[in-house]
Amino acid sequence: MIIIFFGAPGVGKGTQAALIAEQMGFGHLSTGEALRNAIAAQTDVGKLAQQIVESGGLVSDEIVTQIVKETLDQAKFQKGAILDGYPRTIGQARDLAGLLEASGKKVAVVVNITVDKEKVIQRLILRGRKDDKEDVIRERFNVYEKETAPLLDFYLATPNLVKNVDGDGQVEDVTARIKAILA
Ligand code: AMP
Repeated sequence: MIIIFFGAPGVGKGTQAALIAEQMGFGHLSTGEALRNAIAAQTDVGKLAQQIVESGGLVSDEIVTQIVKETLDQAKFQKGAILDGYPRTIGQARDLAGLLEASGKKVAVVVNITVDKEKVIQRLILRGRKDDKEDVIRERFNVYEKETAPLLDFYLATPNLVKNVDGDGQVEDVTARIKAILA
């Protein structure tokens, strides 16, 4: 079962993806986290990605799709996979469809988490990750609106695939809303 967690930066995708993957025994793949690990380890991918991640841009489709391909092959992703922060472009959505098709799988559900933009910006400033400075946050939002938000239309073309979830409120309340959808 392949589940995509979709939404603007800071809506809580990562927190919810980790909790739900744990509870359901699924693998959780955050491409952002994979890139941050690669940067910390200064691998070839990390060196290529560092400046882009730190300025709020998008790493190339080729690099992130390769990360996804390698991860989905791992044993713990066979029962189910939660993709958090991927796909982020139409190219990546097509790459993913191709990858999955090759193994007879497809995206089961797109969980679209929504929260008011200004609330989310304040949340991110408080989180304080290296790319959580206000100018970088605003750039990540611009990139989201331009490159990633249009993906929703791509997935809305498949009936009943996209499920909207209100991401406002306590973490456990949002988890319960998502679990109700996945049940
Ligand atoms: P995230 O942890 O999802 O907020 O991602 C942090 C940063 O990693 C993003 O601002 C991008 O620079 C990069 N990144 C993560 N996932 C992707 C992706 N699917 N495509 C391109 N860049 C990505």
